[in-house]
Amino acid sequence: MMTTMMKTTVYLVLLASIVFLAPGCLGNQPANMDWAAPAVTTGSGDTDGIQRVLDTYANALVTKDRNKFASILDPASPAFAAQELERFDRLIDVPFDQYNLGLISQSQTSPGAAAVKVASAYTLRGSFTELPDLDQSAYFMVKGNDGWKLSGDANEQLLGKKREAQFEDFGKVDVLGGDHTIVLYHAPDRAMAEMAQRMTEASVPRLVEVIPGTRLPQVMIKVYSGADEINQSFPGKWQEWTASASRQLGENAGQGGEIIIDAQVLADTNASNPSYNQRLLAHELTHIVLFPQTGNRTPPFLIEGLADYIGGIEDKSLLKERLSSGNQFSPTLRDIYQPGGFTALLSTEAATLAYEEADTAVALLEKKYGNDKVLELLREFRRREQDSVNQDTLVNDTFMSVLGVSWNDFESEWRDYVLGS
Ligand SMILES: [Zn+2]
Repeated sequence: MMTTMMKTTVYLVLLASIVFLAPGCLGNQPANMDWAAPAVTTGSGDTDGIQRVLDTYANALVTKDRNKFASILDPASPAFAAQELERFDRLIDVPFDQYNLGLISQSQTSPGAAAVKVASAYTLRGSFTELPDLDQSAYFMVKGNDGWKLSGDANEQLLGKKREAQFEDFGKVDVLGGDHTIVLYHAPDRAMAEMAQRMTEASVPRLVEVIPGTRLPQVMIKVYSGADEINQSFPGKWQEWTASASRQLGENAGQGGEIIIDAQVLADTNASNPSYNQRLLAHELTHIVLFPQTGNRTPPFLIEGLADYIGGIEDKSLLKERLSSGNQFSPTLRDIYQPGGFTALLSTEAATLAYEEADTAVALLEKKYGNDKVLELLREFRRREQDSVNQDTLVNDTFMSVLGVSWNDFESEWRDYVLGS
């Protein structure tokens, strides 16, 4: 958001000039391709028997059948079994619609024992219908008299690292359902979960007005207690200026996205600048809606600026000061038409500038060319995402064909607009 995305945090910062710096958002993060699963490469072995156990595990989570779930845990590994049962109990209220565990590969570790690599994904009832990109995990399994059982966590051995923390690792998951939201949270964060839900729901009318045709199932919102939990779940992805994030869950509209909230940031912001939270949530929800309409080469400033246009335009005093000084500064508007332009921002100040640039650029586009043209720009960038021209040429050509203005001319109009307003 104003300053900030997908996954990161330094709360509220006061600049010398008492400019309120709100945390930003990780919104234009590309799809999490790094989590995509490779093609299934099962080795020889009892593939069917092992897959059956994975199916039972997944089915028990959907149908909330604790006995069935317990039946595929190895009683000779009581600590692991207890941990898995605790996981089951923590997920008991989560309305899974589909839960998919697919065997990627297996290797025999000793007679009657195997290590398996598994791809997993789930959907929630009422939310996006298609399974998101798959997550990977790994298990040890043993074969007993009545078939295979899960006996341990093999992430370090097979995937080379501990599994990133899952939401349920932080406690029992509670659920709030709404018209357009389904909020997952832990009991201590209930007040912030309710606030996040109320504010997200309240942003829908404006969103539908600016982006006609918007149809939203329940968007999943995960409320984390603070930066510590978020960093365990998304290591290295949360920048210091990130307050909240939206995360694309796949390339297709049906895979949707989720919103990630830091309850501590929400609470702090509520104390100092309550209206900011409303903008933050409208901003993230806009990202979810725009994911399927956004190409890999859509200028990030358009995406972030549009999210703030819907959420509420932010301050622009820092940008105005920098522009009138005549000195060079970074990032420029041009820097943030490059793919990944926002994820490259390393400081809160750079993020603030970038959001002010994005907001004013989109405000100018809306004012001078109209909302239809802004949406047409988005469509055109998506249509041309495979073009072989470089980004400068693509941006210039697209502005020319949709708006009839070159990039250079637009940039100077924008400068005048910021300085004159
Ligand atoms: Zn954003």
